[in-house]
Amino acid sequence: MRFCIVGAGFSGAIIARHLSERGHQVLVLDERPHTAGNCHTERDSATGVMVHNYGPHIFHTSDQRAWDYVNRFGTFRPYINRVKAVSGGRVYTLPVNLLTINQFFNLTLSPDEARAFIASKGDSSITDPQNFEEQALSMIGPELYHAFFRGYTRKQWGMEPTELPASILKRLPLRFNYDDNYFNHLHQGMPENGYTAIIDAILDTPNVEVRLGEKFEDVEESFRHVFYTGPLDRYFGFRLGRLGYRTLDFERIEADGDYQGTAVINHCDETTPYTRISEHKHFAPWEADTFKRTVAFREYSRLCGEADIPYYPIRLVNEKSMLNSYIDLANNTAGVSFLGRLGTYRYLDMDVTISEALDACDRIDVLLAKGSTFPAFFNL
Ligand code: FAD
Ligand code: UDP
Repeated sequence: MRFCIVGAGFSGAIIARHLSERGHQVLVLDERPHTAGNCHTERDSATGVMVHNYGPHIFHTSDQRAWDYVNRFGTFRPYINRVKAVSGGRVYTLPVNLLTINQFFNLTLSPDEARAFIASKGDSSITDPQNFEEQALSMIGPELYHAFFRGYTRKQWGMEPTELPASILKRLPLRFNYDDNYFNHLHQGMPENGYTAIIDAILDTPNVEVRLGEKFEDVEESFRHVFYTGPLDRYFGFRLGRLGYRTLDFERIEADGDYQGTAVINHCDETTPYTRISEHKHFAPWEADTFKRTVAFREYSRLCGEADIPYYPIRLVNEKSMLNSYIDLANNTAGVSFLGRLGTYRYLDMDVTISEALDACDRIDVLLAKGSTFPAFFNL
C-alpha cells in the first residue's frame, strides 16, 4: 500500500519527496487546482506580474538547513522587506526604528537619546506584560502604540489588544538605528520564478503521484499511513467544534505604472477598513520595471466562516482548550500524522514549516528502520 499526503504545500511536498527518495510510493492530494498551498504564486494574466495569490510571502530565516533546502530547488533573489505605514495622514517606516521615532515626534535624536526617550515613554509599572496592549505600552509607550498598533491590531484580529497574547507583538523588532529591514534574520529572499516552481521541483520525483482538485474526504483508497497537512478539526469532521481562524478578503486594484511605489504599505488608522496594500511587482524588483501595468491588493481581515479559507489561527483560551481535546483525539487515532500550519493549528512561517517537515523526515527514517508506527504529531 502507498502513503498518502494530504496537502501540496511545503509540509506535504517535503514529506512526499523524502518518502519517494526512500523508495516508497506516494499519493499527494490537494483540493485546490494548484500545488504550493498558501505560498502559491502565479503570473497575473492581465499584467504579467508574479502574484502571491494568498497574500505576500517573503522568505526570511536564520535556519541554515531550511535555507539550503529551498535553494536546492530554485534560485532566490535578494529581497529585503521594507514596510511603510500610514498613520494620521502621514507615511512612516516600520518596524519602529530611529526614523519612525524622529519623524513621529518631530525630533532628531541619536540612537542613545532615542533609547532613553522611548524608555521614558514606556509604562514602567508593567513589569510582566500579560497581553498585547500591556506589551506595547511597556515597550514603546502610548503614542506609538495608538499610532501604529492599536487600530491595525483591532482590524487584523477583530478583538481588543487586551485580549491578545503579548507574543504577537514580540514578532516585530524595535530598533534605535535607521535599519528598516522588517526582519532580523540572516537570510532573506524571493524565489526568482515564484514559490510554486520551488514546490513543483520538490514534488518532481519518481514514485509520487500528485492529484489536484481532489478532497481527501472523497478518496476511497486505503493507505499505509496518511500525513495530513489540512485543518486538524476538519479531519475529525469538526466533531469537537471549530477551531477559530481569521480569514482575508483581497480587493484587486489594477493601474498603469506604479501604484504605491513599494511592495507593502500598512494602513494603521482604524478609520481605514483594510489593514494593508501589497503591490506585487515590487516583490520582484529585478523585473518590476518591465511591466506597463501593475496590480495591488487591499487586504481585509475578518472571522473565518465555514466556507472561507483559514489563514491565521486565533489560539485564544477557547481555541486552546478545544485544540487540546483534538490533540488527545489525534493521539488515540491510528494511521494518521498531522503536520504543518493547519495540521498543528499554529502560525508557522515558511522556514519553520520546512524545518519541522525536515525534522519529521529524520524521525520517519528512524521509525521505518525500527518497523514502528508513526506518531500523531512530530512537532507538538
Ligand atoms: P498550506 O500551505 O496551508 O498547505 C495545506 C494544503 O492542504 C492546502 O493547499 C489545502 O488546499 C490542502 N488541504 C487541506 N485540507 C485538505 C483536504 N481535506 N483534502 C485535500 N487537500 C486539503 N510565511 C513566511 O515565511 N513569510 C511570509 O511572508 C508569510 N506570509 C504569510 C501571509 C499570510 C497571509 C499567511 C496566511 C501566511 C503567511 N506565511 C508566511 C506562512 C506560510 O503561508 C506557511 O508557513 C505555509 O503556507 C505553511 O505550509 P503548509 O504546507 O503547512 O500548509
Ligand atoms: N501590527 C500592527 N501594526 C502594523 C504591523 C503589525 O499592529 O503595522 C501587529 C498586528 O497585531 C500583527 C502583529 O503586529 O498581527 C504582527 O505583525 P506581522 O507583520 O508579523 O503580521 P503578520 O505577518 O502575521 O501579518
